[in-house]
Amino acid sequence: MKRFKITLLILLLLYVDTMILEAERYQKKFDSGKIVVIENKKYSRCFVSTDADYYDVNHEIVALEGFFSYFNGNEKPIGADISIDSDFRRGDVIAAEVTTIPEVNRVRSVLRDEKGGEVSRNQFFRVNDRWVGFLGIPSYIRRGDYKLDISGWDETRHFIFTRKVTVGGKAFPLDVIKLNETLTSLRERDDRRIREETQKLLSIIRSFDSNAVFAYSGFVFPVRGRITGHFGDRRRYIYSDGAVQSSIHNGIDIAVQIGTEVHACADGRVVLAEKRILTGKSVIIEHFPGVFSLYYHLNSIRIKAGDMVKKGEIIGYSGMSGLATGPHLHWEIRVSGVAVDPEPFLEGKVIDKNIFISSIGTQNISGTEGR
Ligand SMILES: [Zn+2]
Repeated sequence: MKRFKITLLILLLLYVDTMILEAERYQKKFDSGKIVVIENKKYSRCFVSTDADYYDVNHEIVALEGFFSYFNGNEKPIGADISIDSDFRRGDVIAAEVTTIPEVNRVRSVLRDEKGGEVSRNQFFRVNDRWVGFLGIPSYIRRGDYKLDISGWDETRHFIFTRKVTVGGKAFPLDVIKLNETLTSLRERDDRRIREETQKLLSIIRSFDSNAVFAYSGFVFPVRGRITGHFGDRRRYIYSDGAVQSSIHNGIDIAVQIGTEVHACADGRVVLAEKRILTGKSVIIEHFPGVFSLYYHLNSIRIKAGDMVKKGEIIGYSGMSGLATGPHLHWEIRVSGVAVDPEPFLEGKVIDKNIFISSIGTQNISGTEGR
């Protein structure tokens, strides 16, 4: 994922001075657009950016690519400044920042395949004056072209920015893993408790608490050691009874001796700390709304659900509890339920520190105001 950013500014000349000033910064790069009269159940006008590609079918806009801002005749359209990375691989996170004039109530993004099928979606959250959104690109999708929509709403208006996104990246290698009888029976076991544990985990990693903005200071590896399993590896398990099952490795395996200190990879709130059948002693930490880190196969856990943890704080000691063929830490990051490659988080590619540095300042101020 390149750090190159595409910034789009929709210049609406009708807006006040501050908007004009903002616009001047970008006006060399982007033009404005035009207003199209439409016949829609909800809206009678659509502001369309100059670079937009669309059909106008019976006075109804069919948006293909560009910025579209829907409103009614007595209003002004919502203007937006949208910043997103380009060049994605399977398992990457699409990070986007959106500011709008005027303010909107909610913003969300959706990634769709060429047939319009939904691949991933997430809500945005507020950091100071802007909306920040992370969208996980699943590692199991095909390489190729997808469509990204970023939409926002207030009570009466709606905007959508839609563009093509090409998802590339190398092929993931195949790992063949033989399981002994004990591990085979663990994997083939199908009991209610395993299903309940899975349901609980899914409901945690798919949750979205818009106030959970914690990881201001970035991400680090939870342990140092040899990486024995990579994110996205295709795995073929050969069971002791000869059965074969394929899966995708959702995290990174780091081989470390039993009893090695395991550290929180970033500031956050512990949302799960308990023994599970398949993953052994397990911890989940929430770092941003919808962004979680997971730690499996621990020997012991040193924190409990509800605790706030700092980056680098000891959360437990490594082991090989649950379904593990040797001592290691399985570490995983999920974004709105989608397993993503943790490495871009470590390199600071996902989180734009500038946003969060200014947030820390605001936090201190808001603290004294008792908000
Ligand atoms: Zn693993």
